[in-house]
Amino acid sequence: MDITALNSTKALRKHVLVWMCLFFGSVSLFFSALNVFSGVYLLGFLELCFSIYCLYTIHHLSKHALRFWQSVVMCVLVCIIVLYANYISEPKYGLFVWSFALPVLCYLLMGKRYGIFFSGTVLFIQSLILLSKSSPDPIVNLNMAINLLLAYVSIWTVSHIFEGSRALSSKRLKNLALLDPLTGAGNRLSMNHYFEVELVDKTNTYLFLLDLDYFKQINDKFGHDVGDKVLTEIATLLRITLAKGYVFRVGGEEFAVIHSFNSKDEALFAAEKLRETVEKTPFNIEGHAIKLTISIGVADYQANSSLESIFIAADKQLYKAKRLGRNKVYASSKEQLKQIEVPA
Ligand code: GH3
Ligand code: MG
Ligand code: MG
Repeated sequence: MDITALNSTKALRKHVLVWMCLFFGSVSLFFSALNVFSGVYLLGFLELCFSIYCLYTIHHLSKHALRFWQSVVMCVLVCIIVLYANYISEPKYGLFVWSFALPVLCYLLMGKRYGIFFSGTVLFIQSLILLSKSSPDPIVNLNMAINLLLAYVSIWTVSHIFEGSRALSSKRLKNLALLDPLTGAGNRLSMNHYFEVELVDKTNTYLFLLDLDYFKQINDKFGHDVGDKVLTEIATLLRITLAKGYVFRVGGEEFAVIHSFNSKDEALFAAEKLRETVEKTPFNIEGHAIKLTISIGVADYQANSSLESIFIAADKQLYKAKRLGRNKVYASSKEQLKQIEVPA
């Protein structure tokens, strides 16, 4: 399964941006011609540049993935053009109506955080512009101000609520598909995705394959529920001990860690530290102080090796660690890690 299908946010933003470029690019080209003929050269020129930029963006997006800065640039440009057009024209021409589209656009393209900032800034600048052009009749001014403010704030609120719940359900869906429900660690699918897509520079990448020693005895002695809690605590301990790096649950009581290190020694040192930390940590679950150990097989990324081949290499070392007594770390080269000292 390709998990890019789960990244609905990026797909949605790309889609919106392409259509925005098509729409605003054409509208802007039309207004550019109109403004140049009416002698408003600066605005006409700005609109022409904007149309060309829209064309370029559509072309770029047809070949490449969306970058976040493209969304930001689009929003900034549209906001500047709308506000500038409002600044140089009279309110009676109704150009301020375009500013109602800005919160929707900003939330859709950039999400909640940027959406709040852009919508607030547009409201502030737009208010200053309209105040500077107020009519002599105070009642007309008040009416206009209240209506514009309420209309803008209602569109802003709807955009905020919509984007908030859309982002939340997208995140929940992703978590459901990619996280192990018991331990919260990533599952195999997320490990594949992380390695193949997210990990751009794979040099110095190491895979640790960890298996709990004699875990069946914990289940037999304390019950399956306690065993589950031990697995959850182990996953948390791995995450805390590693600080960086990613933890995945790849089997019942097997975990994989993907981490980059500056050298093999550093990687082996970290694996040994993991092993020792688990050995020294008692897990207090339902009144039982449970101690256990782990065996670790380590393999590193070689030029063009696949995740599967690294996994198999680490698995061989794990098997060796089990066969030669458990509670040990073995790596895919000659080095065995007994000699690595971990400072207290
Ligand atoms: P070894 O040192 O050879 O790895 O011994 P082991 O007992 O850990 O290995 P074995 O493969 O014989 O047993 C693994 C056990 O892990 C068996 C199974 O009951 C337990 N297990 C697997 N998944 C889960 C789970 O999700 N929850 C609990 N509580 N136990 C699980
Ligand atoms: Mg085991
Ligand atoms: Mg096992």
